[in-house]
Amino acid sequence: MFKALVLDKVDGKTVSAIQELEESALPEGDVLVEVSYSSLNYKDGLAVTGKGPIINKFPAIPGIDLVGRVISSEDDRFQPGMHVILTGWGVGERHWGGMSERARLKGDWLVPLPAGMSEKDAMLIGTAGLTAMLCVLALEEGGVRPDDGEVLVTGAAGGVGSVAVALLAKHGYRVTAATGRESESDYLHRLGATHIRSREEMSAPSKPLEKQLWSGVIDTVGSKVLARALAETSYGGTVAACGLAGGPELETSVMPFILRNVRLQGVDSVVCPTARREQAWQRLQSDLDLALLGDVGQEITLEQVPEYAQKIIRGEVRGRTLIKVGE
Ligand code: NDP
Repeated sequence: MFKALVLDKVDGKTVSAIQELEESALPEGDVLVEVSYSSLNYKDGLAVTGKGPIINKFPAIPGIDLVGRVISSEDDRFQPGMHVILTGWGVGERHWGGMSERARLKGDWLVPLPAGMSEKDAMLIGTAGLTAMLCVLALEEGGVRPDDGEVLVTGAAGGVGSVAVALLAKHGYRVTAATGRESESDYLHRLGATHIRSREEMSAPSKPLEKQLWSGVIDTVGSKVLARALAETSYGGTVAACGLAGGPELETSVMPFILRNVRLQGVDSVVCPTARREQAWQRLQSDLDLALLGDVGQEITLEQVPEYAQKIIRGEVRGRTLIKVGE
């Protein structure tokens, strides 16, 4: 028997409860993992509160990422005792996820824990940190260099935003952190932000072209904030768009693209190819100041997940939230 947070639908509402399950209840897969940690991402918040259509088959176990130890495996690449990371691939959505002491997964979805990285660090990074790294790679590939000028990160006090600020600052970029929480200014400066910009200012309606301010942008918010970020991006700049915390719509014009050579690069972490994931995890291992993660993260239990799911949807969670699953 093992313990898991199980979601169900009752009278059209998503409800959650900690349950004891048998291993035979787990979905099909070729690797059985003893989960140590999962983490709380915005998408998990949508799943647990039922505020977004993340899960369509109930009962279900949420948790879009996890780290743990292989118990048994029919995949030659993974032997019992190996430590593995899982992010994305529809786990915690279509396939039972990480908020469970056991997970049965496909070997194709797993990445070995990089040497020198602890399980805890891996989940403090989690899907959000991986996504932040993929965004940094997108800026680098767009030719954005530290001496090109200021880089903007939106939704900066959230999970993706916090890791993005820390990664960019470590690489010598000057970072402006856009946040709706002035109270998090000190935290963002500690992560390496040089300037703070208010969400209010970023959400104000924008003209097709505004004053050129950013050599690059990492946007986790979408909607009006992304429209303004595009209008403010300097000639030849790159905007990496990965999120929709402020809404999925985007009303903009072609002007930044055809007059300023601006590149809008989408970033996906869910079905991102394995080679790209491994590259990103290696870069996280070598580039991220893991000491900062203590500041970025907080640890909760499975029992606290419903409370924190509400908080993350309300935009009240700072940085990363680690979920301790196993002993
Ligand atoms: P968090 O909730 O931790 O962070 C989101 C941040 O966005 C908040 O902390 C807040 O930052 C800001 N925000 C929240 N609501 C609003 C609003 N209405 N208007 C403007 N800003 C707002 O989430 P994550 O960091 O986990 O995820 C961020 C986004 O990235 C989400 O939309 C998520 O779905 C997406 N995502 C995408 C992935 C991909 O593969 N493309 C992978 C992972 C995440 P502040 O308080 O600083 O203003």
